[in-house]
Amino acid sequence: MASVMQDMLRLVFPHTCPGCGRTLLKAEHNLCLHCQVHLPKRLTFNSQELAQRFYGRLPLSEIYAYLLFKRNGITQHLLHAIKYHGNQELAQELGNKFGLDCNKLTLFTTVDTVVPVPLHKSKLRLRGFNQSELIAKGLANQLGCTLDNHTVHRVKKTPTQTRKNRMERWQNVAQIFEATTNQLAGKHVLLVDDVITTGATLESCGQALLQTGVSKLSIACLAIA
Ligand SMILES: [Zn+2]
Repeated sequence: MASVMQDMLRLVFPHTCPGCGRTLLKAEHNLCLHCQVHLPKRLTFNSQELAQRFYGRLPLSEIYAYLLFKRNGITQHLLHAIKYHGNQELAQELGNKFGLDCNKLTLFTTVDTVVPVPLHKSKLRLRGFNQSELIAKGLANQLGCTLDNHTVHRVKKTPTQTRKNRMERWQNVAQIFEATTNQLAGKHVLLVDDVITTGATLESCGQALLQTGVSKLSIACLAIA
């Protein structure tokens, strides 16, 4: 009965693919087959080039970003569907796909715990969910490790960064995170975010984690600009 209802609802409100806007077939969930095949994955695995963005600022064990972010590209549409249309299932599914690829590349094999970059509580209230946490959930499932969403908190709201220069952006995110326990001391932590732009937010959050005695830090980002 439920499935008849679902079919009828689909006739009235067809689900569309957040990547390309086409109507999804019954067997397709969250993403059409075409978009699944043509996800703009970063084809070359070059951890060095990514690690350089944090060189001298944050000691990293491994770093990887899954998708390339281009203006008006599939990745931008997917992130938009997650953040502004609340497509939470899509976030978790992309996290799962990301995790599967990490396993294939034998990345993050010694990670103990996955930590999503937290949102400020007022923003979390407004949006209702943390997209990085959903991505982290999918990743943790595939990597077979735990997820920690209570050790680090965002204590400062940050104003929008679009009109700031690089230096101002770095200063803007200094000390905006705080860790409240040392439960992660001695562990290899994988910090997860939705998109890397300047890396300043990740650096600030990573520093807060290292201060609690985390022994190794790695970064996984769904997309890179
Ligand atoms: Zn599509």
